[in-house]
Amino acid sequence: MKIESYAQGRWFAGEGGDTVRNAITGEPVATISSKGLDFAGMLEYGRTVGGPALRRLTFHERALKLKALAQYLMERKEDYYALSHATGATRTDSWVDIEGGIGTLFAFSSKGRRELPNACFVIDGVPEGLSRKGSFVGQHIRVPLEGVAVHINAYNFPCWGMLEKLSANLLAGMPAIVKPASQTAYLTERMFRDMIASGIFPDGALQLICGSTGDLLDHLQCQDVVTFTGSAGTGRKLKQHPAVVRNSVRFTMEADSLNFSMLGPDATPDTPEFDLFVKEVVREMTTKAGQKCTAIRRAFVPRAQLDAVTEALKQRLAKVVVGDPAVEGVTMGALASIGQRDEVLSRVQELQQAATLVCGDPAQFTVTGADAQAGAFLPPLLLRCDQPHAHAVVHEVEAFGPVSTLMPYDSVDDAIALARRGEGSLVGSVFTYDNGFARAMVLGVACFHGRLLLANRDCAKESTGHGSPMPGLVHGGPGRAGGGEELGGMRSVMHYLQRTALQGSPQMLAAVTDRWIAGGDRQPGVHPFRKNLEELQLGDCVMSDEREVTLADIEHFANFTGDTFYAHMDEEAAKVNPFFGGRVAHGYFIVSIAAGLFVEPNPGPVLANYGVDNLRFMTPVFPGDRLKVVLTCKQKNPRITENYGEVRWDAVVTNQDDKLVAQYDVLTMVEKAGAAQKA
Ligand code: NDP
Repeated sequence: MKIESYAQGRWFAGEGGDTVRNAITGEPVATISSKGLDFAGMLEYGRTVGGPALRRLTFHERALKLKALAQYLMERKEDYYALSHATGATRTDSWVDIEGGIGTLFAFSSKGRRELPNACFVIDGVPEGLSRKGSFVGQHIRVPLEGVAVHINAYNFPCWGMLEKLSANLLAGMPAIVKPASQTAYLTERMFRDMIASGIFPDGALQLICGSTGDLLDHLQCQDVVTFTGSAGTGRKLKQHPAVVRNSVRFTMEADSLNFSMLGPDATPDTPEFDLFVKEVVREMTTKAGQKCTAIRRAFVPRAQLDAVTEALKQRLAKVVVGDPAVEGVTMGALASIGQRDEVLSRVQELQQAATLVCGDPAQFTVTGADAQAGAFLPPLLLRCDQPHAHAVVHEVEAFGPVSTLMPYDSVDDAIALARRGEGSLVGSVFTYDNGFARAMVLGVACFHGRLLLANRDCAKESTGHGSPMPGLVHGGPGRAGGGEELGGMRSVMHYLQRTALQGSPQMLAAVTDRWIAGGDRQPGVHPFRKNLEELQLGDCVMSDEREVTLADIEHFANFTGDTFYAHMDEEAAKVNPFFGGRVAHGYFIVSIAAGLFVEPNPGPVLANYGVDNLRFMTPVFPGDRLKVVLTCKQKNPRITENYGEVRWDAVVTNQDDKLVAQYDVLTMVEKAGAAQKA
């Protein structure tokens, strides 16, 4: 089999090629080569064909495509599982890679539709007032970059590694060139073939390089983005590439990470946290045979528990069955290649300068159902270093396999100091039932970590664990971990969008951004609640009559709702309140009468009020005050798959002196034209 690339709308088999081998049997799986690919042409194709086609779609249209793609791949998942076996993975390992990756597509699809507008750009934040009279304002927007996202991925997650990155750039509206690591590229290529066959994303949105990237990076331009996952050495080299430096190409890197896990001082052997810690260290050592960027490389315990934890880990690790994952009972598979196994062994030798191997012997271990020499097998290797401050190597050398080093700490400050010696990691975990210790650890180490898991008996059952990056949470870390942020909900989408500050008059900015801005024109006239989504225009408004608030109103509202708080009901007590100096109306009463003033009560296109945003009460309302409200159509967000859209209204309540009493956004759902007939 020849692993092919997909460039400029067609599959391409490179000349010659290196052999990629089965991790379990050592037999050839495929050859790989990108020789002959037109790398500059690929970038140009992405920029001129894929990018424009993607940008013609809205965020919601692209989000729906992510969901369609996820469904398409999920139906074919068994094909990927079958091939994943050759990477040395167990069924559980493959689940993380395959279904974890597809799950990330689903997650970004739904987050995109909830958190982004059904539009082609994002309004970022609220307008900034820039002038005294309000005729000059500022507003940030975010627009898709018009280059290509080049994803250079590691070998350990051939599916997830591709899909987690694509979720973000495709949602943002940017095409991608995916470059999987050669060792496991056959699985990426298999899934990629289905992605292309599905025809879900437009031509040019997705390209694939299997083999070397040739002169690709030489042709990078200022609108392109590079994401890199792999070794720190390669990452540093690529980050310094002249084209990257010259064009300020955005570069996201995720590299070596010596993640820690800490057992709290309270977690003695009779506590649930002690067991949870031991289980998690073993799980992280053995899942994907420890080839996980988030795996626990450094496990710290109170010095008094060092022997107890060593024994508990040894007992659990003794139950691990290494071998061919296809054989019943095998719990840990092979590393991705013989080369990788040898790399891990040489790293373990480095670690042994400072630490003693207390469990596992790479020279003598049992392999079930496979030839120990032909496959890339290793047993779990637990090291122990009793003087962790004395040795840099245990905090700096990442053995990317089933390897972890157990170390003691002597105080809370010591625990913090040791955790920080990773000099920047993807994740750390703390196993404790002591909130004070958890807080001290968080404040002591958060600036060195992208994610912190606080694990205890209360969340253990539902916890996703130390090693699982979540689509909605940051995945990336400072310093040694590369300084990137691959995942993090909409934060990761923002890497592919340019933030631009606009300045101008409220009218012009409203017309440009499709969002009405205070100070902009308003059109009173037909009550806007009589208008469907298409008829409704930004700036359509209701300017209400006045309503006087009486003491009887306030008392009625208090007795009716049960909110008899003293500021509304007790004249003497209210008098000494520093904000009021007398009885005042309830804030919720103000909001309620404002609705009574602006509403058009008859059945019509407004379907429901689903909330308010940014509600603030600015001036107290006393008996005798007269209130009025102006309600202005601020923003429309038509839903693709529904007969309605969301409409955001600007509500401003003022008193008889034109003083601002309350301000908020009212959120409603409004029918599209002809929706009633369709229903
Ligand atoms: P590499 O850095 O060698 O490779 C990572 C990716 O970069 C691969 O796709 C590789 O392609 C590509 N690459 C390598 N050289 C170049 C280049 N000059 N130009 C463009 N692309 C290039 O890392 P490995 O995947 O081999 O893993 C090695 C080590 O990295 C592990 O042992 C581990 O320590 C660390 N690692 C860390 C991870 C993390 O997230 N923390 C994840 C995975 C690995 P190709 O395969 O074709 O060479």
